[in-house]
Amino acid sequence: MGPFGNRSAGGQSRRGLKLWPILLFGIYFAYYWFSHGNVASYTGRKQLIETTSREELALGLQSYREILSQSDVVRDGDAPRQVRDIAQRLVQAAPKVEEYLAETAGTPADTDWSAFQWETSVIRSEQVNAFCLPGGKIAVYTGILPVAKNEDGLAAIMGHEIAHALLRHGGERMAQQKLVQFGAMAASMSTGDMDPGQRQMVMAAIGAGAQYGVLLPFSRSHESEADRVGLLLAAAACFNPEEAPRLWERMAALGSRKPPEFMSTHPAEGTRIGQLNGWMGEAKQVRQRFCGGAQG
Ligand SMILES: [Zn+2]
Repeated sequence: MGPFGNRSAGGQSRRGLKLWPILLFGIYFAYYWFSHGNVASYTGRKQLIETTSREELALGLQSYREILSQSDVVRDGDAPRQVRDIAQRLVQAAPKVEEYLAETAGTPADTDWSAFQWETSVIRSEQVNAFCLPGGKIAVYTGILPVAKNEDGLAAIMGHEIAHALLRHGGERMAQQKLVQFGAMAASMSTGDMDPGQRQMVMAAIGAGAQYGVLLPFSRSHESEADRVGLLLAAAACFNPEEAPRLWERMAALGSRKPPEFMSTHPAEGTRIGQLNGWMGEAKQVRQRFCGGAQG
C-alpha cells in the first residue's frame, strides 16, 4: 500500500474505509461526465455515451449476424414483407418526430442518420420477442405476431424497439456498465483493509445500491422513453396510436411468457398503460399533423 492509503487511513482504525479510491473514482466520473455527456435528441436528457453512433452500428451488425446465423429466418410469405413495410414507415417518420420535438420541446435534432443501416428479419420461433439493435438491425419473432394481432399492434412493438436504437440506449448502457464496474473496483479497493465480514456487508450494500439506485431506474427510464418516442413514431407513420395501450394489455395477459426485454426492467403494465394514455393527446396531434384525417 502506498503513502496515499496510509495517509487517508490517518489516525482512524486500520480497518476503516480508505477514501482515496472513492476520490479517484469521483474525479474520473466528473471527467467522464464532461467529456462524454451530451444532450440527447428526442428527450433532451443528458446522456453519457462513450461510443460513437458508428461504433454502435458496427457492434449491432456483429450481434445481428450472429443471431441470424443461429436462427430460422423466414424468407417467404407475408410476414417478412409486412415487417419490412412497417419498419420503413416508422423509420421515415423518425426525422419528422425529431423535428416535431425540437420544435415543441426544444430538444436537439442532431441524429447521425448515416450511422443507421436499417434492416429487418423475421425469425421463426415460439418466443414472444422482437428487438432493434444499435444501428437499426431489427428482428421480429413469429411468436410475437399473435400478440401484435394487427398492423397497428406490430407498429407499436416495432416503434418501441426502433426508438431504443434512435435514442442510443445501447451505447448509454455500455457506458453505465463501465462506470458501475469502475465504481465497484473503487469500492473494493477502499474497503480492502476492513474486517472481511463487515467488508462483505458494505460491498453487498454498494452492489444493491448500484442495481436499484442506478441500473434499474435507468433501464426503467429507457423503457418509458422508448414507449413515448415509439408511440409518436407510430402516430407520425400514420398508424393508430390507440392500439399501443391495447397491445400492452395483451402483453400483460401473457404473464411469464412475456418477452425477456419486457420482463423485470419494464415499468408495471398499469403504469405503462397509464403513461401511454397520458401521451395519447400528443400522439394524436402528431398523427393529425403528418397524416391529416386519413386512416392509415
Ligand atoms: Zn424496451
